[in-house]
Amino acid sequence: MSVLPQVAKLGGMALNLLFPQWCIGCGREGDVICYSCRSSLPRVMPPLCPRCGRPQPSGILCPSCVSWQAEIDGIRSPFRFDGVMRQAILQLKYRNLRALDAPLAQLLNDYLITNPVPGEVLVPVPLHRKRLRERGYNQSSLLARKLGTLINLPVVDDCLIRQRSAPPQARTSSVEERQRNVADAFACCNQRLRDKQVLLIDDVSTSGATLDACAAALKAAGATSVWGLALAREI
Ligand SMILES: [Zn+2]
Ligand SMILES: [Zn+2]
Repeated sequence: MSVLPQVAKLGGMALNLLFPQWCIGCGREGDVICYSCRSSLPRVMPPLCPRCGRPQPSGILCPSCVSWQAEIDGIRSPFRFDGVMRQAILQLKYRNLRALDAPLAQLLNDYLITNPVPGEVLVPVPLHRKRLRERGYNQSSLLARKLGTLINLPVVDDCLIRQRSAPPQARTSSVEERQRNVADAFACCNQRLRDKQVLLIDDVSTSGATLDACAAALKAAGATSVWGLALAREI
């Protein structure tokens, strides 16, 4: 009978809607991230390096950006990859807790209201198609779609592709290693982003090497500017 898979599917949807009913930070019943956990999320505080967006006392280019031949025009992140934000991103990424995409996109939206970042089209950092098949979804696409609805910007997620899967990056690998690992990993497969100001969306950024490699591919395909907005930053 073909009815059973349908019922199972409905059950899954209902579970997705009902679960989780508890705050991922403190376990309180109600929101996925409760008000109190939301207000104590680890924020990246200005002054920032104008390029990489890391805290930098005088607000000038930080030492690593001075020598960085970057393609990306700038990177901004509302939060540090720490505490409840770290848990939220890991759950969105690996535990299929899709109930988190809306509240997390809302946090990006709130950030952009006070910290505008250039962009007329949102492009999620793509996964390699093999990884996409394994995981079933791209967490950055989920964020970009919800954010696009909130700020009324189009999302283009079929132009930039990841043609090589990067080896897992050890926390200890150097910036140069990370850059080598992702160089030429991305390409644009059509001209849809020509003459566009692109805002790349990612869940978490470490060295910025991935966002920069995306920016190189987008600019080679004619994008006029490329900024990166990562929900969280490893600092
Ligand atoms: Zn909480
Ligand atoms: Zn910097």
